[in-house]
Amino acid sequence: MVKILFINPVIREEDNPKHIPYGIALLAAIAINDGHQVQVYDANAWRKGDEVLEQVCAADDWDIIAIGGLTTAFGYIKKACKIVRRINPQTFILAGGGFLTSMPREIMDWMPEIDLGVVGEAFVTFPVVLRMFDEHKLIKIPLDFQKTLGIIYRKSNGTPVLNGVRPNIPNLDALPWPAWELFPLDIYFANSKLLFSEESFTSKRRLDVNGSLGCNLICRYCWHLGTTGDMVIEENEDGINDVRFTYGRNIRYHSPDYIVNMVQYLRDTYDIDFISFIDENMMTMDAYSKRTWIFDLCEAWIAAGLQPTCRSKGIPHDDSCKGVHWGGTSHATLHRKESLEHMFKAGCSQLVYGLESFDRDILKTLGKGSTREKNINSVAICQSAGINPIPNIIIGFPEETFESIRNTITALLELGIHAKPHFATAYPGSEWYYDYKDSIIEQYKGNLEAYIADLGDATKITATISHRFSAMELLGLQKIVELRDLRLLELTQIHWNEADQFMKPLATPKTSFNMVKKKIQAPLAKVVG
Ligand code: SF4
Repeated sequence: MVKILFINPVIREEDNPKHIPYGIALLAAIAINDGHQVQVYDANAWRKGDEVLEQVCAADDWDIIAIGGLTTAFGYIKKACKIVRRINPQTFILAGGGFLTSMPREIMDWMPEIDLGVVGEAFVTFPVVLRMFDEHKLIKIPLDFQKTLGIIYRKSNGTPVLNGVRPNIPNLDALPWPAWELFPLDIYFANSKLLFSEESFTSKRRLDVNGSLGCNLICRYCWHLGTTGDMVIEENEDGINDVRFTYGRNIRYHSPDYIVNMVQYLRDTYDIDFISFIDENMMTMDAYSKRTWIFDLCEAWIAAGLQPTCRSKGIPHDDSCKGVHWGGTSHATLHRKESLEHMFKAGCSQLVYGLESFDRDILKTLGKGSTREKNINSVAICQSAGINPIPNIIIGFPEETFESIRNTITALLELGIHAKPHFATAYPGSEWYYDYKDSIIEQYKGNLEAYIADLGDATKITATISHRFSAMELLGLQKIVELRDLRLLELTQIHWNEADQFMKPLATPKTSFNMVKKKIQAPLAKVVG
Protein backbone atom coordinates (compact mmCIF):
# COMPACT_ATOMS: atom_id res chain seq x y z
CA MET A 1 0.00 0.00 0.00
CA VAL A 2 1.30 3.43 -1.00
CA LYS A 3 0.36 6.60 0.83
CA ILE A 4 -0.33 9.24 -1.83
CA LEU A 5 -1.15 12.90 -1.63
CA PHE A 6 -2.60 14.44 -4.79
CA ILE A 7 -2.26 18.19 -5.17
CA ASN A 8 -4.75 19.90 -7.45
CA PRO A 9 -2.95 23.05 -8.61
CA VAL A 10 -4.45 26.52 -8.52
CA ILE A 11 -5.54 27.49 -12.01
CA ARG A 12 -6.69 30.93 -13.13
CA GLU A 13 -6.59 32.68 -9.80
CA GLU A 14 -8.86 35.42 -11.15
CA ASP A 15 -11.64 32.88 -11.68
CA ASN A 16 -13.68 30.85 -9.17
CA PRO A 17 -13.04 27.10 -9.09
CA LYS A 18 -15.80 25.65 -11.23
CA HIS A 19 -14.61 22.21 -12.27
CA ILE A 20 -13.33 19.31 -10.20
CA PRO A 21 -10.06 18.02 -11.71
CA TYR A 22 -11.56 15.09 -13.57
CA GLY A 23 -8.25 13.36 -14.33
CA ILE A 24 -7.00 13.54 -10.73
CA ALA A 25 -10.38 12.32 -9.45
CA LEU A 26 -10.19 9.32 -11.81
CA LEU A 27 -6.61 8.46 -10.89
CA ALA A 28 -7.49 8.77 -7.20
CA ALA A 29 -10.32 6.25 -7.72
CA ILE A 30 -7.99 3.87 -9.57
CA ALA A 31 -5.42 4.08 -6.75
CA ILE A 32 -8.07 3.51 -4.06
CA ASN A 33 -9.39 0.47 -5.94
CA ASP A 34 -5.86 -0.92 -5.93
CA GLY A 35 -5.72 -0.63 -2.15
CA HIS A 36 -3.59 2.50 -1.80
CA GLN A 37 -4.22 5.27 0.72
CA VAL A 38 -5.19 8.48 -1.02
CA GLN A 39 -5.63 12.07 0.10
CA VAL A 40 -6.27 15.18 -1.96
CA TYR A 41 -5.19 18.73 -1.29
CA ASP A 42 -7.40 20.76 -3.59
CA ALA A 43 -5.40 23.99 -3.70
CA ASN A 44 -7.58 25.28 -6.51
CA ALA A 45 -10.81 24.93 -4.56
CA TRP A 46 -9.48 26.03 -1.17
CA ARG A 47 -7.13 28.84 -2.28
CA LYS A 48 -5.43 28.83 1.14
CA GLY A 49 -1.94 29.98 0.16
CA ASP A 50 1.50 28.43 0.42
CA GLU A 51 1.56 28.11 4.18
CA VAL A 52 -1.33 25.67 4.17
CA LEU A 53 0.32 23.70 1.38
CA GLU A 54 3.40 23.44 3.59
CA GLN A 55 1.25 22.20 6.49
CA VAL A 56 -0.43 19.60 4.26
CA CYS A 57 2.94 18.35 3.02
CA ALA A 58 4.16 18.02 6.59
CA ALA A 59 0.92 16.47 7.87
CA ASP A 60 1.84 12.88 7.03
CA ASP A 61 4.61 10.65 5.95
CA TRP A 62 3.61 10.63 2.27
CA ASP A 63 5.26 8.02 0.03
CA ILE A 64 4.29 9.87 -3.12
CA ILE A 65 3.08 13.40 -3.75
CA ALA A 66 1.43 13.57 -7.15
CA ILE A 67 0.70 16.78 -9.01
CA GLY A 68 -0.50 17.55 -12.50
CA GLY A 69 -2.65 19.61 -14.79
CA LEU A 70 -2.69 21.46 -18.07
CA THR A 71 -0.01 23.88 -19.19
CA THR A 72 -2.08 26.73 -17.72
CA ALA A 73 -1.24 25.36 -14.25
CA PHE A 74 2.51 25.34 -14.91
CA GLY A 75 3.33 28.32 -12.67
CA TYR A 76 1.62 26.87 -9.59
CA ILE A 77 2.95 23.35 -10.20
CA LYS A 78 6.50 24.66 -10.39
CA LYS A 79 6.10 26.61 -7.15
CA ALA A 80 4.35 23.71 -5.39
CA CYS A 81 7.08 21.22 -6.36
CA LYS A 82 9.70 23.47 -4.75
CA ILE A 83 7.63 23.65 -1.55
CA VAL A 84 7.06 19.88 -1.54
CA ARG A 85 10.75 19.16 -1.96
CA ARG A 86 11.70 21.59 0.83
CA ILE A 87 9.17 20.19 3.30
CA ASN A 88 9.43 16.52 2.24
CA PRO A 89 13.00 15.98 1.01
CA GLN A 90 12.56 12.19 0.79
CA THR A 91 9.10 12.02 -0.77
CA PHE A 92 8.84 10.77 -4.33
CA ILE A 93 7.36 13.54 -6.53
CA LEU A 94 5.29 12.31 -9.43
CA ALA A 95 3.86 14.63 -12.11
CA GLY A 96 1.52 14.14 -15.03
CA GLY A 97 -1.09 15.69 -17.26
CA GLY A 98 -0.93 17.98 -20.24
CA PHE A 99 1.74 20.32 -18.91
CA LEU A 100 4.22 17.45 -18.77
CA THR A 101 3.11 15.40 -21.75
CA SER A 102 3.40 18.35 -24.12
CA MET A 103 7.09 18.86 -23.33
CA PRO A 104 8.44 16.16 -20.99
CA ARG A 105 12.10 16.90 -21.60
CA GLU A 106 11.83 20.63 -20.92
CA ILE A 107 9.67 20.15 -17.84
CA MET A 108 12.14 17.68 -16.28
CA ASP A 109 14.92 20.21 -16.94
CA TRP A 110 12.97 23.16 -15.53
CA MET A 111 11.67 21.25 -12.51
CA PRO A 112 14.49 19.16 -11.01
CA GLU A 113 12.24 18.26 -8.06
CA ILE A 114 10.12 15.91 -10.20
CA ASP A 115 11.29 12.31 -9.79
CA LEU A 116 9.06 10.80 -12.42
CA GLY A 117 6.53 12.01 -14.97
CA VAL A 118 3.62 10.08 -16.45
CA VAL A 119 3.52 10.94 -20.15
CA GLY A 120 0.23 10.59 -22.04
CA GLU A 121 -2.70 8.52 -20.80
CA ALA A 122 -2.13 7.63 -17.13
CA PHE A 123 -4.93 5.10 -16.50
CA VAL A 124 -2.57 2.12 -16.74
CA THR A 125 0.81 3.77 -16.20
CA PHE A 126 -0.10 5.31 -12.84
CA PRO A 127 -1.18 2.06 -11.13
CA VAL A 128 1.82 0.27 -12.64
CA VAL A 129 4.16 2.85 -11.08
CA LEU A 130 2.32 2.56 -7.74
CA ARG A 131 2.70 -1.22 -7.80
CA MET A 132 6.40 -0.93 -8.52
CA PHE A 133 6.72 1.54 -5.70
CA ASP A 134 4.89 -0.75 -3.32
CA GLU A 135 7.05 -3.76 -4.23
CA HIS A 136 10.17 -1.64 -3.93
CA LYS A 137 9.23 -0.75 -0.35
CA LEU A 138 8.56 -4.38 0.48
CA ILE A 139 11.65 -5.97 -0.97
CA LYS A 140 13.97 -2.96 -0.75
CA ILE A 141 15.44 -2.96 -4.24
CA PRO A 142 16.05 0.23 -6.21
CA LEU A 143 13.28 1.06 -8.64
CA ASP A 144 14.14 0.19 -12.21
CA PHE A 145 11.96 2.14 -14.60
CA GLN A 146 13.81 1.21 -17.77
CA LYS A 147 11.02 -0.93 -19.17
CA THR A 148 8.00 1.02 -17.90
CA LEU A 149 6.03 2.47 -20.78
CA GLY A 150 4.54 5.97 -20.63
CA ILE A 151 7.00 7.59 -18.25
CA ILE A 152 9.94 9.94 -18.06
CA TYR A 153 12.26 9.06 -15.18
CA ARG A 154 15.67 10.12 -13.96
CA LYS A 155 18.86 8.10 -14.09
CA SER A 156 20.96 8.09 -10.92
CA ASN A 157 22.83 11.16 -12.19
CA GLY A 158 19.52 13.04 -12.63
CA THR A 159 19.40 12.85 -16.44
CA PRO A 160 15.79 12.37 -17.63
CA VAL A 161 15.00 9.37 -19.82
CA LEU A 162 11.77 9.20 -21.80
CA ASN A 163 10.45 5.67 -22.36
CA GLY A 164 8.17 4.37 -25.14
CA VAL A 165 4.53 5.32 -25.46
CA ARG A 166 1.93 3.43 -23.42
CA PRO A 167 -0.93 2.12 -25.61
CA ASN A 168 -4.30 3.79 -25.00
CA ILE A 169 -6.92 1.69 -23.27
CA PRO A 170 -9.57 0.47 -25.74
CA ASN A 171 -12.52 0.40 -23.37
CA LEU A 172 -13.25 3.51 -21.32
CA ASP A 173 -16.00 1.70 -19.39
CA ALA A 174 -13.28 -0.25 -17.59
CA LEU A 175 -12.50 2.95 -15.67
CA PRO A 176 -14.00 3.48 -12.25
CA TRP A 177 -16.04 6.59 -11.55
CA PRO A 178 -14.03 9.59 -10.32
CA ALA A 179 -13.54 9.80 -6.54
CA TRP A 180 -15.73 12.89 -6.07
CA GLU A 181 -15.90 12.30 -2.32
CA LEU A 182 -12.25 13.36 -1.91
CA PHE A 183 -12.97 16.90 -3.13
CA PRO A 184 -14.64 19.87 -1.41
CA LEU A 185 -17.78 19.61 -3.51
CA ASP A 186 -19.54 22.38 -1.58
CA ILE A 187 -17.07 24.87 -3.03
CA TYR A 188 -17.71 23.59 -6.53
CA PHE A 189 -21.47 23.57 -5.97
CA ALA A 190 -21.30 27.19 -4.77
CA ASN A 191 -19.84 28.01 -8.20
CA SER A 192 -22.34 25.93 -10.15
CA LYS A 193 -23.82 28.78 -12.15
CA LEU A 194 -22.57 29.14 -15.72
CA LEU A 195 -23.76 32.05 -17.80
CA PHE A 196 -24.59 29.84 -20.78
CA SER A 197 -28.31 29.20 -20.52
CA GLU A 198 -31.16 29.78 -18.12
CA GLU A 199 -30.85 26.22 -16.85
CA SER A 200 -27.12 26.40 -16.26
CA PHE A 201 -27.36 29.85 -14.71
CA THR A 202 -29.96 28.69 -12.22
CA SER A 203 -28.12 25.45 -11.45
CA LYS A 204 -27.45 24.91 -7.75
CA ARG A 205 -25.46 21.70 -7.88
CA ARG A 206 -23.50 21.12 -11.07
CA LEU A 207 -20.77 18.55 -11.73
CA ASP A 208 -18.72 17.56 -14.77
CA VAL A 209 -18.73 14.30 -16.69
CA ASN A 210 -16.37 13.28 -19.47
CA GLY A 211 -18.15 10.95 -21.87
CA SER A 212 -15.38 10.47 -24.41
CA LEU A 213 -11.75 10.91 -25.30
CA GLY A 214 -10.72 12.18 -28.69
CA CYS A 215 -11.77 14.23 -31.65
CA ASN A 216 -11.14 13.30 -35.26
CA LEU A 217 -10.45 16.84 -36.40
CA ILE A 218 -7.04 18.47 -36.61
CA CYS A 219 -7.54 22.10 -35.58
CA ARG A 220 -4.04 23.48 -35.66
CA TYR A 221 -4.34 25.40 -32.41
CA CYS A 222 -5.76 22.39 -30.51
CA TRP A 223 -3.86 19.77 -28.54
CA HIS A 224 -4.79 16.25 -27.43
CA LEU A 225 -1.59 15.11 -25.73
CA GLY A 226 -1.83 11.38 -26.22
CA THR A 227 -5.36 10.85 -24.99
CA THR A 228 -6.71 10.79 -28.52
CA GLY A 229 -4.16 8.42 -30.03
CA ASP A 230 -2.15 11.28 -31.46
CA MET A 231 1.19 10.81 -29.69
CA VAL A 232 4.17 8.60 -30.47
CA ILE A 233 7.62 8.62 -28.90
CA GLU A 234 10.64 8.30 -31.17
CA GLU A 235 14.34 9.11 -31.21
CA ASN A 236 15.11 12.61 -32.44
CA GLU A 237 18.10 13.63 -34.55
CA ASP A 238 20.30 13.43 -31.43
CA GLY A 239 19.24 9.84 -30.77
CA ILE A 240 17.18 10.87 -27.72
CA ASN A 241 13.53 9.88 -27.25
CA ASP A 242 11.06 12.74 -27.58
CA VAL A 243 7.30 13.14 -28.04
CA ARG A 244 5.85 13.55 -31.53
CA PHE A 245 2.27 14.65 -32.10
CA THR A 246 0.46 13.43 -35.19
CA TYR A 247 -2.95 13.33 -36.88
CA GLY A 248 -3.48 9.77 -35.54
CA ARG A 249 -6.73 9.18 -33.69
CA ASN A 250 -8.07 6.54 -31.27
CA ILE A 251 -11.69 7.59 -30.84
CA ARG A 252 -13.16 6.21 -27.60
CA TYR A 253 -16.36 6.89 -25.73
CA HIS A 254 -18.19 5.58 -22.70
CA SER A 255 -21.32 3.55 -23.26
CA PRO A 256 -24.55 5.48 -22.62
CA ASP A 257 -25.25 3.10 -19.71
CA TYR A 258 -21.95 3.93 -18.02
CA ILE A 259 -22.66 7.66 -18.28
CA VAL A 260 -26.29 7.47 -17.21
CA ASN A 261 -25.57 5.16 -14.25
CA MET A 262 -22.93 7.64 -13.12
CA VAL A 263 -25.27 10.63 -13.44
CA GLN A 264 -28.01 8.74 -11.59
CA TYR A 265 -25.55 8.05 -8.79
CA LEU A 266 -24.56 11.73 -8.70
CA ARG A 267 -28.19 12.79 -8.53
CA ASP A 268 -29.03 10.29 -5.79
CA THR A 269 -25.89 11.07 -3.78
CA TYR A 270 -25.36 14.79 -4.29
CA ASP A 271 -28.73 15.96 -5.61
CA ILE A 272 -27.12 17.46 -8.70
CA ASP A 273 -29.29 19.35 -11.19
CA PHE A 274 -26.81 20.00 -14.01
CA ILE A 275 -24.05 18.10 -15.81
CA SER A 276 -21.36 19.78 -17.88
CA PHE A 277 -19.96 17.36 -20.43
CA ILE A 278 -16.31 18.28 -20.74
CA ASP A 279 -15.76 16.13 -23.84
CA GLU A 280 -13.58 17.74 -26.47
CA ASN A 281 -16.23 17.39 -29.16
CA MET A 282 -19.36 15.33 -28.53
CA MET A 283 -20.39 15.50 -32.18
CA THR A 284 -17.27 13.63 -33.26
CA MET A 285 -18.52 10.74 -31.18
CA ASP A 286 -21.97 11.00 -32.71
CA ALA A 287 -20.53 10.95 -36.23
CA TYR A 288 -18.01 8.21 -35.41
CA SER A 289 -20.71 6.00 -33.88
CA LYS A 290 -22.75 6.34 -37.09
CA ARG A 291 -25.20 8.62 -35.30
CA THR A 292 -26.07 6.16 -32.53
CA TRP A 293 -24.14 7.47 -29.50
CA ILE A 294 -26.04 10.70 -28.87
CA PHE A 295 -29.38 9.06 -29.65
CA ASP A 296 -28.73 6.14 -27.27
CA LEU A 297 -27.39 8.48 -24.59
CA CYS A 298 -30.51 10.63 -24.75
CA GLU A 299 -32.81 7.59 -24.69
CA ALA A 300 -30.97 6.14 -21.69
CA TRP A 301 -31.09 9.56 -19.96
CA ILE A 302 -34.85 9.71 -20.36
CA ALA A 303 -35.40 6.04 -19.43
CA ALA A 304 -33.39 6.57 -16.22
CA GLY A 305 -35.72 9.36 -15.14
CA LEU A 306 -33.08 12.07 -15.57
CA GLN A 307 -35.10 14.05 -18.11
CA PRO A 308 -36.08 17.44 -16.63
CA THR A 309 -39.80 17.94 -16.11
CA CYS A 310 -39.80 21.12 -18.22
CA ARG A 311 -38.79 18.96 -21.18
CA SER A 312 -41.07 16.01 -20.46
CA LYS A 313 -44.10 18.26 -19.97
CA GLY A 314 -43.17 20.90 -22.56
CA ILE A 315 -43.44 23.73 -20.02
CA PRO A 316 -41.06 26.63 -19.26
CA HIS A 317 -38.14 25.86 -16.97
CA ASP A 318 -38.45 27.22 -13.44
CA ASP A 319 -37.34 26.50 -9.88
CA SER A 320 -39.74 23.58 -9.52
CA CYS A 321 -38.13 21.70 -12.44
CA LYS A 322 -36.93 18.22 -11.49
CA GLY A 323 -34.33 16.23 -13.38
CA VAL A 324 -30.86 16.91 -14.69
CA HIS A 325 -30.12 19.45 -17.41
CA TRP A 326 -26.87 19.28 -19.26
CA GLY A 327 -24.58 21.02 -21.72
CA GLY A 328 -21.60 20.06 -23.84
CA THR A 329 -19.66 20.69 -27.01
CA SER A 330 -20.78 20.59 -30.60
CA HIS A 331 -19.45 21.25 -34.07
CA ALA A 332 -20.94 23.28 -36.90
CA THR A 333 -20.36 20.64 -39.54
CA LEU A 334 -20.93 17.47 -37.55
CA HIS A 335 -24.13 18.37 -35.72
CA ARG A 336 -27.49 17.26 -37.11
CA LYS A 337 -30.91 18.68 -36.44
CA GLU A 338 -32.25 15.25 -35.40
CA SER A 339 -29.47 14.76 -32.86
CA LEU A 340 -29.95 18.26 -31.47
CA GLU A 341 -33.69 17.74 -31.09
CA HIS A 342 -33.06 14.56 -29.19
CA MET A 343 -30.55 16.29 -26.99
CA PHE A 344 -33.02 19.05 -26.21
CA LYS A 345 -35.67 16.49 -25.29
CA ALA A 346 -33.29 14.79 -22.86
CA GLY A 347 -32.43 18.08 -21.15
CA CYS A 348 -29.54 19.62 -23.09
CA SER A 349 -29.63 23.38 -22.63
CA GLN A 350 -26.42 24.67 -24.24
CA LEU A 351 -23.68 23.64 -26.59
CA VAL A 352 -20.34 25.34 -27.07
CA TYR A 353 -19.40 25.77 -30.74
CA GLY A 354 -15.79 26.57 -31.56
CA LEU A 355 -16.73 28.65 -34.60
CA GLU A 356 -13.49 30.65 -34.30
CA SER A 357 -13.81 32.71 -37.50
CA PHE A 358 -16.29 33.52 -40.24
CA ASP A 359 -13.69 34.05 -42.93
CA ARG A 360 -13.51 31.47 -45.71
CA ASP A 361 -9.74 31.56 -46.09
CA ILE A 362 -9.01 31.48 -42.37
CA LEU A 363 -11.41 28.56 -41.90
CA LYS A 364 -9.56 26.65 -44.62
CA THR A 365 -6.32 26.99 -42.64
CA LEU A 366 -7.73 25.81 -39.32
CA GLY A 367 -8.22 22.08 -39.97
CA LYS A 368 -11.70 22.32 -38.52
CA GLY A 369 -13.58 21.34 -41.65
CA SER A 370 -16.12 24.14 -41.38
CA THR A 371 -17.13 26.97 -43.70
CA ARG A 372 -18.53 30.48 -43.24
CA GLU A 373 -21.98 29.26 -44.29
CA LYS A 374 -21.93 26.24 -41.97
CA ASN A 375 -20.77 28.41 -39.08
CA ILE A 376 -23.56 30.92 -39.70
CA ASN A 377 -26.21 28.23 -40.16
CA SER A 378 -25.10 26.29 -37.09
CA VAL A 379 -26.35 29.02 -34.77
CA ALA A 380 -29.86 28.94 -36.23
CA ILE A 381 -29.97 25.12 -36.39
CA CYS A 382 -28.96 24.80 -32.75
CA GLN A 383 -31.39 27.50 -31.66
CA SER A 384 -34.26 25.95 -33.63
CA ALA A 385 -33.73 22.75 -31.63
CA GLY A 386 -34.24 24.82 -28.45
CA ILE A 387 -30.60 24.69 -27.37
CA ASN A 388 -28.46 27.76 -26.66
CA PRO A 389 -25.40 27.88 -28.94
CA ILE A 390 -22.34 29.38 -27.24
CA PRO A 391 -20.02 30.56 -29.98
CA ASN A 392 -16.29 30.80 -29.43
CA ILE A 393 -14.45 33.36 -31.57
CA ILE A 394 -10.70 33.79 -32.05
CA ILE A 395 -8.58 36.41 -33.81
CA GLY A 396 -4.88 36.55 -34.56
CA PHE A 397 -4.59 33.42 -36.70
CA PRO A 398 -1.41 33.19 -38.81
CA GLU A 399 -3.17 34.33 -41.99
CA GLU A 400 -5.43 36.91 -40.31
CA THR A 401 -6.06 40.08 -42.33
CA PHE A 402 -8.26 43.15 -42.01
CA GLU A 403 -10.56 41.46 -44.50
CA SER A 404 -10.90 38.31 -42.38
CA ILE A 405 -11.63 40.39 -39.29
CA ARG A 406 -14.27 42.27 -41.31
CA ASN A 407 -15.86 38.97 -42.34
CA THR A 408 -16.08 37.90 -38.72
CA ILE A 409 -17.67 41.20 -37.66
CA THR A 410 -20.24 41.14 -40.48
CA ALA A 411 -21.25 37.59 -39.48
CA LEU A 412 -21.57 38.61 -35.81
CA LEU A 413 -23.79 41.51 -36.90
CA GLU A 414 -25.85 39.25 -39.14
CA LEU A 415 -26.33 36.75 -36.33
CA GLY A 416 -26.92 39.37 -33.66
CA ILE A 417 -24.11 37.93 -31.55
CA HIS A 418 -21.73 39.82 -29.30
CA ALA A 419 -18.38 38.16 -28.68
CA LYS A 420 -15.10 39.20 -27.15
CA PRO A 421 -12.65 37.15 -29.17
CA HIS A 422 -9.77 35.20 -27.69
CA PHE A 423 -6.33 35.47 -29.22
CA ALA A 424 -4.95 32.56 -31.26
CA THR A 425 -2.46 31.08 -28.82
CA ALA A 426 -0.02 28.31 -29.57
CA TYR A 427 -0.36 25.98 -26.59
CA PRO A 428 2.30 23.28 -26.30
CA GLY A 429 1.15 20.13 -28.06
CA SER A 430 -0.69 22.01 -30.80
CA GLU A 431 0.55 21.99 -34.38
CA TRP A 432 1.06 25.75 -34.35
CA TYR A 433 3.16 25.59 -31.18
CA TYR A 434 5.77 23.57 -33.05
CA ASP A 435 5.42 25.55 -36.28
CA TYR A 436 5.99 28.84 -34.45
CA LYS A 437 8.18 27.73 -31.55
CA ASP A 438 11.21 29.65 -32.80
CA SER A 439 9.18 32.84 -33.25
CA ILE A 440 7.67 32.38 -29.79
CA ILE A 441 11.10 31.96 -28.23
CA GLU A 442 12.25 35.10 -30.04
CA GLN A 443 9.27 37.06 -28.71
CA TYR A 444 10.23 35.93 -25.19
CA LYS A 445 13.88 36.89 -25.66
CA GLY A 446 15.04 33.29 -25.68
CA ASN A 447 13.10 32.27 -22.56
CA LEU A 448 10.61 29.56 -23.48
CA GLU A 449 9.81 28.88 -19.84
CA ALA A 450 8.61 32.48 -19.40
CA TYR A 451 6.16 31.92 -22.27
CA ILE A 452 4.84 28.70 -20.70
CA ALA A 453 4.40 30.49 -17.36
CA ASP A 454 2.47 33.29 -19.11
CA LEU A 455 -0.09 30.83 -20.51
CA GLY A 456 -1.75 30.59 -17.10
CA ASP A 457 -3.44 33.94 -17.57
CA ALA A 458 -6.15 33.56 -20.20
CA THR A 459 -6.77 37.30 -20.42
CA LYS A 460 -3.20 38.02 -21.42
CA ILE A 461 -1.88 38.32 -24.93
CA THR A 462 1.25 36.18 -25.00
CA ALA A 463 3.21 35.37 -28.16
CA THR A 464 1.47 36.20 -31.43
CA ILE A 465 1.44 33.72 -34.28
CA SER A 466 -0.10 36.16 -36.74
CA HIS A 467 2.10 36.87 -39.76
CA ARG A 468 0.79 40.38 -40.07
CA PHE A 469 -0.46 41.70 -36.73
CA SER A 470 1.58 42.55 -33.67
CA ALA A 471 0.30 42.32 -30.09
CA MET A 472 -0.59 46.03 -30.13
CA GLU A 473 -2.74 45.67 -33.24
CA LEU A 474 -4.41 42.51 -31.98
CA LEU A 475 -5.36 44.16 -28.72
CA GLY A 476 -7.02 46.96 -30.71
CA LEU A 477 -8.67 44.54 -33.10
CA GLN A 478 -10.04 42.53 -30.18
CA LYS A 479 -11.84 45.66 -28.99
CA ILE A 480 -13.10 46.45 -32.48
CA VAL A 481 -14.54 42.93 -32.88
CA GLU A 482 -16.10 43.17 -29.44
CA LEU A 483 -17.71 46.48 -30.44
CA ARG A 484 -18.55 45.09 -33.92
CA ASP A 485 -17.44 48.47 -35.22
CA LEU A 486 -16.80 48.33 -38.96
CA ARG A 487 -16.11 52.07 -39.13
CA LEU A 488 -13.24 51.79 -36.67
CA LEU A 489 -11.92 48.76 -38.52
CA GLU A 490 -11.91 50.69 -41.79
CA LEU A 491 -10.12 53.66 -40.22
CA THR A 492 -7.53 51.36 -38.69
CA GLN A 493 -6.95 49.64 -41.99
CA ILE A 494 -6.48 52.95 -43.84
CA HIS A 495 -3.99 54.06 -41.22
CA TRP A 496 -2.03 50.81 -41.20
CA ASN A 497 -1.97 50.41 -44.97
CA GLU A 498 0.73 53.08 -45.12
CA ALA A 499 2.74 51.43 -42.36
CA ASP A 500 2.28 47.89 -43.66
CA GLN A 501 5.13 48.09 -46.16
CA PHE A 502 7.59 48.67 -43.30
CA MET A 503 6.26 45.91 -41.05
CA LYS A 504 8.13 42.66 -40.74
CA PRO A 505 6.23 39.54 -39.59
CA LEU A 506 6.85 38.49 -36.01
CA ALA A 507 5.92 34.90 -36.64
CA THR A 508 7.17 32.62 -39.39
CA PRO A 509 6.51 28.88 -39.49
CA LYS A 510 9.07 26.09 -39.71
CA THR A 511 8.98 22.30 -39.47
CA SER A 512 9.69 20.50 -36.21
CA PHE A 513 10.53 16.95 -35.13
CA ASN A 514 7.77 17.13 -32.51
CA MET A 515 4.95 17.54 -35.06
CA VAL A 516 4.33 14.99 -37.78
CA LYS A 517 1.59 16.18 -40.10
CA LYS A 518 0.50 12.66 -40.95
CA LYS A 519 -1.92 10.11 -39.57
CA ILE A 520 0.43 8.06 -37.40
CA GLN A 521 -1.74 6.11 -35.01
CA ALA A 522 -0.58 5.64 -31.44
CA PRO A 523 -0.97 2.01 -30.29
CA LEU A 524 -4.22 0.83 -28.76
CA ALA A 525 -4.00 -1.91 -26.13
CA LYS A 526 -5.75 -5.20 -26.91
CA VAL A 527 -7.08 -5.66 -23.42
CA VAL A 528 -7.61 -3.18 -20.67
CA GLY A 529 -4.64 -3.41 -18.37
S1 SF4 B 1 -12.94 20.34 -33.12
FE1 SF4 B 1 -12.40 21.08 -31.07
S2 SF4 B 1 -11.53 19.30 -30.02
FE2 SF4 B 1 -11.55 18.83 -32.19
S3 SF4 B 1 -9.51 19.37 -32.91
FE3 SF4 B 1 -10.87 21.14 -33.26
S4 SF4 B 1 -10.68 22.43 -31.42
FE4 SF4 B 1 -9.83 20.41 -30.95
